[in-house]
Amino acid sequence: MNTKAAQDTRSSGHGAGRLRRIRVVLINTTHPGNIGAAARAMKVMGLSQLHLVNPKVYPHADATARASGADGVLQRAQVHTGLGAALEGCSLVLGTSARLRSLSMPQMDVRKAAEVALGEPGEGDVAVLFGREAYGLTNAEMQTCHHLVHIDTNPEFGSLNLAQAVQVVAYELRMTALARHGAARPPDDWVPVDAGQMERFFEHLERTLLDLEFLNPAQPRRLMMRLRRLFNRARPDQNEINILRGILTAAQRAAGTAPEASDGGDDD
Ligand code: SAH
Repeated sequence: MNTKAAQDTRSSGHGAGRLRRIRVVLINTTHPGNIGAAARAMKVMGLSQLHLVNPKVYPHADATARASGADGVLQRAQVHTGLGAALEGCSLVLGTSARLRSLSMPQMDVRKAAEVALGEPGEGDVAVLFGREAYGLTNAEMQTCHHLVHIDTNPEFGSLNLAQAVQVVAYELRMTALARHGAARPPDDWVPVDAGQMERFFEHLERTLLDLEFLNPAQPRRLMMRLRRLFNRARPDQNEINILRGILTAAQRAAGTAPEASDGGDDD
C-alpha cells in the first residue's frame, strides 16, 4: 500500500479504515484493461485488496496502462486458479449481478449491500464478486454468495462495464464507511465461519443425505441449492457448525455409513 492510501485507510478509524476488509474478486476477466481500470476504481475509493480468479490474460500492458497510477493495487493483486482460494478467510460473500435472476436468491441494492458489508462482525474479510464481461457469474458462483447485489439501472439496458460496476460498488462502500459512526452491530461474540468451512459443511451434508437416501443421487442439486440458501441465510458461527457437523456424523453412524476415521464435527 503506498503511503497516501495507507494514511487514508489507517487514520480514519471507524471510517474509511473499515474498507481494508473488502476484497474485490474479479472472476475470469477477459480484457486486461478492465482489470487495470478496476484497480484504479478501487484505489480512488480507498480499497486495496484485489483478487483475480483465472484472468484470461494477466499481467498485461493494458492492465498497467488503465490502472494509471494505481499500479500498487495491481502489483499486490493475488491471482488464483479457483474461487475457493480467493474466498479463503472471507466470512461474507456478495455477488454482483447485472441481471435479476429467476432463482430467488436474497438480492439487495448496492447501498444496502455496502451497509451489510461494513457491518459484518468478526475479523473475516468481505468478498465482492464480479463476473465475466460476456456472461457474468455462473449459477454455481452465485450459490457461493450470501447475497446478490444489483446496481439499479435502466431495465432495458442494465449492464455496466465491469470496471464501472466496481467503481459504483467502491463508491457506495466508501460513502457508507464514512457515514458509519457506531451504528448498531450484531453481538460481538457472533463470528460467522468462513466460506471454506461452509463448503465443507455442504459437502458433508450432501454426502449424509445421500447416505440416508434422502437425496436423489441422480438429481441432488435442486435440493442442495435450497439447503445452501437456508444455511447461508442463517450464517452459522463456529459452535453451530460444529453441532451441525456432529449431527451429520451421528446420522451417518446410525445409518451405518460413517467413515472409519470420522471427519465430522470439530476438526475444521
Ligand atoms: N452480460 C453479463 C454482464 C456482465 S457485466 C450478464 O448479463 O450477466 C460484468 C460484470 O459487471 C457483472 O458480472 C457484474 O459483476 C458487474 N455488473 C455489471 N452491471 C451490473 C449491475 N447493473 N449491477 C451489478 N453488477 C453489475
